[in-house]
Amino acid sequence: MNATHFSGIGMTSARTRGRLVQRLIAEGITNQQVLKAVEDTPRHVFIDEGLSHRAYEDTALPIGMGQTISQPYIVARMTQALLESGSMNKVLEIGTGCGYQTAILSKLCKTVFTVERIRALHMQARKTLGQLNIHNVQYLFADGFNGWQQNAPFDAIIVTAAPPSIPEKLMAQLANGGRMVIPVGQTETAQELILVERQGDEFKKTVIEKVKFVPLVSGVAR
Ligand code: SAH
Repeated sequence: MNATHFSGIGMTSARTRGRLVQRLIAEGITNQQVLKAVEDTPRHVFIDEGLSHRAYEDTALPIGMGQTISQPYIVARMTQALLESGSMNKVLEIGTGCGYQTAILSKLCKTVFTVERIRALHMQARKTLGQLNIHNVQYLFADGFNGWQQNAPFDAIIVTAAPPSIPEKLMAQLANGGRMVIPVGQTETAQELILVERQGDEFKKTVIEKVKFVPLVSGVAR
């Protein structure tokens, strides 16, 4: 990997990234810190070289193992919802995938704790983020339905795959004043992105918008 690989040229250049940022603004992303993080993060290094010319389209793309890298708008929308509702010291991410959302979060919080159930993706994400010199991330290969109890409570939790209902264990690992963004739905065609805000034993839920995520799956895949 050479320097050009990370900075990008042509369809993967900073200029192309700038156009993505303009598009996110047009779609309603307002938070400057989020926009800056998208601008500074080369998305093409997270996906297969054969698809890198499409890296800055605002669309989900395959990353192998039947999984996808989330659409930039959704990454930005979820991050903005967390950032604007409270503190971001310790953030738990369920579904590391290729690590793109992890990279965005790493620029906006002190420590990201990220959990992935597919070993190959977990390993690849560690490698890519290491190459990008991102070091405030802790990785766990495990079933994210259980959260990451040893490091709880978390100021914020982001779930990047959809369970049929909000897992109790994740709610329990939210700090007082903590927030979670999570896609929830029985089927892939009927999911809603929900913001959960904890105050003591109260959990206030707000629907953000309709979304389409891969399902949150139990157990691990070696
Ligand atoms: N944030 C990722 C999105 C990846 S897609 C990105 O930006 O690329 C969702 C990811 O959630 C997949 O990698 C999938 O393997 C993972 N996943 C699904 N169920 C899981 C579970 N129970 N625990 C941890 N990860 C899970």
